[in-house]
Amino acid sequence: MEKRNELYAGKAKSVFTTDDPNLMVMVFRDDTSAFDGKKVEQLDRKGMVNNKFNAFIMQKLEAAGIPTHFEVLLSDTESLVKCLKMMPIECVVRNYAAGSLCRRLGVEEGITLNPPTFEMFLKNDALGDPMVNESHIATFGWADPANIEIAKQLTFKTNEVLKKLFDDAGLLLVDYKLEFGLYQGQVVLGDEFSPDGCRLWDKETRDKMDKDRFRQGLGGVIEAYEEVGRRLGIDFG
Ligand code: ADP
Ligand code: UDP
Repeated sequence: MEKRNELYAGKAKSVFTTDDPNLMVMVFRDDTSAFDGKKVEQLDRKGMVNNKFNAFIMQKLEAAGIPTHFEVLLSDTESLVKCLKMMPIECVVRNYAAGSLCRRLGVEEGITLNPPTFEMFLKNDALGDPMVNESHIATFGWADPANIEIAKQLTFKTNEVLKKLFDDAGLLLVDYKLEFGLYQGQVVLGDEFSPDGCRLWDKETRDKMDKDRFRQGLGGVIEAYEEVGRRLGIDFG
């Protein structure tokens, strides 16, 4: 497999074509951004930590029957993935109230959400990723409603797998964001699962172990990601 041209550089990752049109290389950079790219910093080791974290989680999800784009780790900061036609929608499930849910609905951070909520956001930095529903997605043709329904089911199935995985590691899976795309007509999980795109709290102390440490300037960001990885048994080398 040969890495070729840069297709796209996002806020935290870059993707490259390969000699196989069905596969691409995803490069995890140290760039860290929040607030729709308004706060940006380089955090040492983040690319490596997120690449290995993501590989570990994607393999767990695949083993549980959730189709993912992940193929193989290529290096500390690169993974080979299937090239998907991404749907421009972020799927978010929440088990506890935090972040924008608290701001939007005035609910107290940390309350249990039973049943967990499901929300979708349009990937559009200029608009600040607005919340959208199935009706908007159908009307504006952002994705096929049948595929959105499958993405929703897969997002909830992911919750069952990962709630247990993190619980066994002494962590609460507070909320998370997933992105899906199409591969040969099938809805497949793409992008990444790492502490950049979810909230994880220590079960006992409720300490934040995710990107909120960066958003809120709490420090120890990568140390927290590594501690989560250590509890899951991930080898960062
Ligand atoms: P952003 O675009 O939000 O700044 P990133 O820095 O994470 O995000 O860039 C990664 C980009 O690659 C995202 O736009 C994401 O939708 C896209 N992507 C992720 N996985 C795949 C895939 N398997 N095939 C095609 N594109 C993908
Ligand atoms: N999230 C993300 N990318 C985004 C928006 C949200 O990864 O562009 C994740 C975020 O890390 C959290 C969950 O989705 O785990 C819910 O985020 P929320 O809506 O609370 O927004 P925030 O407060 O993070 O802006």
